[in-house]
Amino acid sequence: MTESIDQPAGLPVAAEAVEAARALGEAGAGGRRDELVPVIRRANELYYVSDAPELSDAEYDRLMRELVAIETAFPALVTGDSPTQRVGAAPTGTFGEVVHGRPMLSLGNVFDEDELRAFDQRVRRGLGLSAAPEAAPDLRYVAELKIDGLAISLRYERGRFVQGATRGDGTTGEDVTANLRTISALPDRLPEAVNVEVRGEVYMPKAEFARINAEREEAGLPTYANPRNSGAGSLRQQDSKVTAARRLSSWSYQLIEDGPDGRPTVASQSEALARLAALGFPVNSDRAEGQDIDGVIAFLDEWREKRHELPYETDGVVVKVDRFDQQERLGMVSRAPRWAIAYKFPPEQVETVLEDIVPYVGRTGTLTPVAHMRPAKVAGSTVSRATLHNLDEVRRKDLRIGDWVVLQKAGDVIPEVVRSLPERRTGAERLFQMPAACPVCGTPVVRDEGAVRVYCPNSHCPARLAQELAHFAGRGGMDIEGAGWAVLEQLLERGLVKTRGDFFRLTVDDLAGLDRFARKSAENLKASIEKSRRRPLARVLNALGIPQVGEQTAIDLAAWIVERWPAEGIDAAEWTALVARSLPSVTAEEFQAVPGIGAVVAGSIAGYFGAPETAAVLADLVDAGVVAEPPARRVAPGSGSAGPLAGKTVVVTGTLAGFDREGAEEAIRAAGGKTAGSVSRNTSYVVAGENAGSKLAKAAELGVPVLDEEGFLRVLAGELG
Ligand code: NAD
Repeated sequence: MTESIDQPAGLPVAAEAVEAARALGEAGAGGRRDELVPVIRRANELYYVSDAPELSDAEYDRLMRELVAIETAFPALVTGDSPTQRVGAAPTGTFGEVVHGRPMLSLGNVFDEDELRAFDQRVRRGLGLSAAPEAAPDLRYVAELKIDGLAISLRYERGRFVQGATRGDGTTGEDVTANLRTISALPDRLPEAVNVEVRGEVYMPKAEFARINAEREEAGLPTYANPRNSGAGSLRQQDSKVTAARRLSSWSYQLIEDGPDGRPTVASQSEALARLAALGFPVNSDRAEGQDIDGVIAFLDEWREKRHELPYETDGVVVKVDRFDQQERLGMVSRAPRWAIAYKFPPEQVETVLEDIVPYVGRTGTLTPVAHMRPAKVAGSTVSRATLHNLDEVRRKDLRIGDWVVLQKAGDVIPEVVRSLPERRTGAERLFQMPAACPVCGTPVVRDEGAVRVYCPNSHCPARLAQELAHFAGRGGMDIEGAGWAVLEQLLERGLVKTRGDFFRLTVDDLAGLDRFARKSAENLKASIEKSRRRPLARVLNALGIPQVGEQTAIDLAAWIVERWPAEGIDAAEWTALVARSLPSVTAEEFQAVPGIGAVVAGSIAGYFGAPETAAVLADLVDAGVVAEPPARRVAPGSGSAGPLAGKTVVVTGTLAGFDREGAEEAIRAAGGKTAGSVSRNTSYVVAGENAGSKLAKAAELGVPVLDEEGFLRVLAGELG
């Protein structure tokens, strides 16, 4: 078994690593420390402040462990500002500051079973218990999945959510209350008028991460490295609407609540989790309670593979001593408690052959090199393709066709070629070159000056058209359910869809003629097309695929448009036509006045709307009967009012005529309200459309006011309240 040492920073470290550090001598170790510290500091800055790390977590952990080993071998080398003594990073000044009542700590890490057993032994020593497994019935652990998200603290006063903060440097965090209010998994009001602090993790589901990254790549924006960074980036936004559009979720795992006697209301972690669930917090049921160390190991073995099937990313298992009195006796060391440890799953990497690099033409014409690999199993699925982003990336990683390469999944979802293995080259490998002409239509490609982008300038290139239409119909855009690639390919091949508007001209008969399409599926698809005919303006703008415009800019732009062309008193279809006619004459300078839009993006938007092709696209959509729903007008900051639904929680159920579910939820948020998925005593209104079912019954049972669509519209307009 690895002997591990409880060293100054409280982070366990293998005895061999300490030996190796000792062998350097104090001067040599000091020199190595001076090399490591700036690298780790820079990685911390990129990870915690910019949400854009350059190192992998495993690489970072290796550097950190080396530093810990050096400091353990030579305690005189430990300084107060060493990264081993610190948690996270101090707030950046973008948000207000929140001083935590109790510090928010980090956790020590272990990487294998031996190290985990060594942790158990340290705990036993600390509690004065026997080292023999069967002799410690009083020591029980809770094993929880370690969510790879962003740590948050939520404060409730008299049962109401009053403040939420990030961990920051452990002592002072950033005030992200407004953004946390948009996360529907987190309760606004508790069933009891209690004062509590709840800590947990905010995360971005894997599917949302994949969607946002695909969108960002196409819009020419930098992609996020993993769901953790994309979740952190989404929570640390200045505009809560952006956070709201990102579908973050959360798990809660720590309760700080003192009863009237000043003592905690619960006596153990397992009781705390049960109490959190009873208070309405999201508590992960994938956990094991009442375990000895063997039970903990069985739990992590169970999740080693199964975790890839979860909709969110986990990077390990957190093991906690259950009883609070025992936790107190064990205490903490500088940055981490002694009573808990994080077991980190090893990053899954496999080696395979890069058989080819093939340029694909995207929606904006960008040529993206894609790795075609010998199929390999990694992180739960078989992978044979991975985007290589651009030519610079291919060169930076020194990838050649025929190379053996290391493959992993970024954030457990997106296949990523990490590097080549030059030592395995035979000499038969070839360098990849971008083609001089578009591989689909043959038009000579254009290289953006100074930029890495190479693109096909032909706006009628069939590859671009197919991608554009897929983006238009996809989630985040018009969201036509059932119009996936297989269907789209047939629609294109048969010439049934040539323009965006054509989707809305399809008849049930057209659709019933598609391969493997029964009449019923044709009717279903037609129904979902009809549903998508009316979409919130921001979604329609996003669906257009304006270069450099992602969901955030689309929201900003929509808010500006409704200010410029107020929609009150006009039928939404007429308003859509008015906006479509007016946008082409807006100048880049005018677009620059949109909050959040800079000169480059403004130029891109004006260029897009000014182009004659765009006028044709917009006219086609209006002609096809597409309606962009105007967003609710933003409440001026500082006006003292926060919208007609401020502080209210609304549940939408059944089918509404004028809104799809997303549109209704967006309207609620725009009016300052929160949406929730289930009805409780905390629900302010239930909006019930056609075919509303059990939620309506629940509302009646609890006496929650129910609104029909008309009533909902009146509440949104501030007429009822
Ligand atoms: P950590 O992520 O190793 O562990 C502590 C955190 O785990 C807690 O603060 C909490 O937020 C979280 N957590 C998730 N589920 C939990 C649960 N069920 N119970 C309790 N806590 C839970 O430590 P850290 O200090 O947050 O960050 C250090 C880690 O961050 C590194 O090990 C590395 O993986 C990553 N990092 C990476 C880079 C990089 O450049 N790639 C840079 C800095 C940090």
